[in-house]
Amino acid sequence: MDSDFEKLKAREIAAKIHSRVISSVEVTKYFLDRIESLNPEINAFISFDHEFALSQAKRIDNRIGSNDITSPLMGVPVAIKDNIQVSGLPTTCASRILSGYKAVFDAGLVEKIKRAGLVIIGKTNLDEFAMGSSNEYSYYGPVKNPIDNTKVSGGSSGGSAAAVAGGMVPLAIGSDTGGSVRLPAAFCGVPAIRPSYGRISRYGLVAFASSLDQIGPFALDVTDLAMLLSIVSGYDYRDSTSINVPIPDYASILKSGLNGLRVGIPKEYFGDGIEQTVRLAVNDVIRHLKNDNVELVDISLPTTKYSVAVYYVIANAEASSNLARYDGVRYGYRSDSIESLFDLYCNSRSEGFGQEVKRRIMLGTYVLSAGYYDAYYRRAMKVRTLIRDDFNRAFEKCELILSPTSPSVAFDFGERLVDPLKMYLSDIYTVASPLAGIPAMSVPCGKDPSGLPIGLQLIGKRFDEESVLQGAYHIERMMDVV
Ligand code: GLN
Repeated sequence: MDSDFEKLKAREIAAKIHSRVISSVEVTKYFLDRIESLNPEINAFISFDHEFALSQAKRIDNRIGSNDITSPLMGVPVAIKDNIQVSGLPTTCASRILSGYKAVFDAGLVEKIKRAGLVIIGKTNLDEFAMGSSNEYSYYGPVKNPIDNTKVSGGSSGGSAAAVAGGMVPLAIGSDTGGSVRLPAAFCGVPAIRPSYGRISRYGLVAFASSLDQIGPFALDVTDLAMLLSIVSGYDYRDSTSINVPIPDYASILKSGLNGLRVGIPKEYFGDGIEQTVRLAVNDVIRHLKNDNVELVDISLPTTKYSVAVYYVIANAEASSNLARYDGVRYGYRSDSIESLFDLYCNSRSEGFGQEVKRRIMLGTYVLSAGYYDAYYRRAMKVRTLIRDDFNRAFEKCELILSPTSPSVAFDFGERLVDPLKMYLSDIYTVASPLAGIPAMSVPCGKDPSGLPIGLQLIGKRFDEESVLQGAYHIERMMDVV
């Protein structure tokens, strides 16, 4: 084969397919081979299916052959996080409790991907039920960071981030409840966006915390990302929280960059606990933006200090309720040692869920229980409103908010497993935007001295993904020339 397809952007691969230089089948085979050879080490995929992928590619080649080109990315492979349903493929959520389960329907976003003619190549690894920040809580083993195999990929969509960064697939889909798209994107050095709550259908995304869950794409650059976001966005009557608003052609507006956009710098996101290399890289971007005459404004988000606590009360409360359905009766894992109905529930759940998921179910059940509901859940909901108010006030002064994505670069395996609180603090910069329902993305902004990627976060107003992507595009261009 004359091309190293992993070095090309998705749109470049698509252009070759559309002009018949190469077929979708050949491209798909190429990436299946890459997965075959790299996955044993990186562990980004839980499953991939040659026959399933190649039969889609064949159909797509036929459509292209008769000039039925339905999207600019048609023919390009895409990977899907394994908590999103693709009919006929297993959905494991990286949990033992779903072993043996095969999806019987397509998620809303999967339907859109199929309609646009992208090839679903496999299902990516994640922290069990998307609960985690390092991808170490997967029943199928941790995902290694393709930039440095001794480091975590970040979580929970670590498989999707590593698959794209490692050149196993040019595009991937993840989900983000409190940072799960942005954190692994930052750790693996690729851009990814968590759009506004309601922008992408959650129908067929296995629920973790329903008021926070949102699907988000990964790509190799901001232009590919914008193109994929246009494909997967849109109203779906089967998700009552999806919103019927126009879907912009995101890729077409990128070039305006930060023209006319004011960028807010929240002082609370640059406090203690942030690694020096991250601080330096983000400050460097800020300096360059100043030189570029971008209007920067100091802002304050005073409730930032409560956001991790509020997030973990609300997310766990919702998880404890959402995960009640896994009882060993209808699907997935069932314990062998059962003598009563109680044993069926209790043993199946005890053996089927991992430690972290059980910790969350217990915490969530506790904060919802009579006597504690007011002190924890209700209070967290009130502070959630204050967090939203903070953002609304800030957005009177600016269109975008800039911060680090994570206080650190990718860390060592095991480093935070001993201390769940330390793991939770990885999310300090990413949990507030989901609580407010607003879009946020991570874009690479440099490397630390050992070559580990650093991510910069841009947060925008509700349904203003355009500004977020424009800002990221501006920074991406800037990093190219710096
Ligand atoms: N790391 C956060 C958690 O563990 C966020 C996870 C996510 O966004 N799915 O809950």
